[in-house]
Amino acid sequence: MRALERACSLHGVEFQEGSEVEDLTFEKNKITGATVVCATGEIKKINCEKAIICSGAWSKKIFNKIPVFPVKGQMLSIQGPTNFLKRVIFGPKTYLVPRDDGLIIVGATVEKDSKFNQGNTPNGIRQLQEGIRSLLPEAINWPQMEHWWGFRPCTPDLKPILGKSKIENLFIATGHYRNGVLFSAITSNLLLKIVQNKNLKEIEKSFLEKFSLDRFAI
Ligand SMILES: Cc1cc2nc3c(=O)[nH]c(=O)nc-3n(C[C@H](O)[C@H](O)[C@H](O)COP(=O)(O)OP(=O)(O)OC[C@H]3O[C@@H](n4cnc5c(N)ncnc54)[C@H](O)[C@@H]3O)c2cc1C
Repeated sequence: MRALERACSLHGVEFQEGSEVEDLTFEKNKITGATVVCATGEIKKINCEKAIICSGAWSKKIFNKIPVFPVKGQMLSIQGPTNFLKRVIFGPKTYLVPRDDGLIIVGATVEKDSKFNQGNTPNGIRQLQEGIRSLLPEAINWPQMEHWWGFRPCTPDLKPILGKSKIENLFIATGHYRNGVLFSAITSNLLLKIVQNKNLKEIEKSFLEKFSLDRFAI
């Protein structure tokens, strides 16, 4: 992430960490800017020529025509001996991902009714522990190091929403559900082309048709 942040900065991207978009402003069929609450509490207006909504599970809060909802995932890590596990193990509800230093990432719950409820829960942790027991029984007594959770941006058909919206200068890249890390490079490449109005390959056009916001009748 640090490398990505540095690369972006070198290309002129400005980050405003801790700032939250509260509201978008429109004129006729165009977005003109946003109201932003900064980390200091200061409220600022930002003007824009074009905008992309890419706020994950929270996208609907910013633009309510996007039918995205949160699906919570809980994870934990355990410390195993170095080189004990050399490859990823996938089970029906759990997967184990080894790191070089013996740390094993244990993922992940899929909680469709979670709303935005924060925190790890006894039930979530128990499910992950049961997964460890079934996939790698000897690991059940290895020390637990950390636990955390996140909200996957999910859509009604489990596919992302990419491309133009009905607002002419507002674009969307959200709803990647369980695959947003995997698809981040292709998504950003595609969105860059659309925002800059560049020629698209046939395959890219077909992605945009399949993943258009228009498929949802809202
Ligand atoms: C437990 C778990 C395991 C996962 N494992 C994998 C995996 O192995 N492989 C994979 O490909 N994907 C995985 N995913 C899914 C992946 O994390 C998501 O698909 C991806 O993060 C979506 O990216 P995004 O940029 O759309 O949203 P996010 O990564 O959620 O980023 C959205 C950002 O928008 C910000 N934001 C929200 N509202 C506002 C606002 N009003 N103003 C300003 N900023 C705002 C949020 O703070 C956040 O930083 C996993 C998810 C979870 C929870």
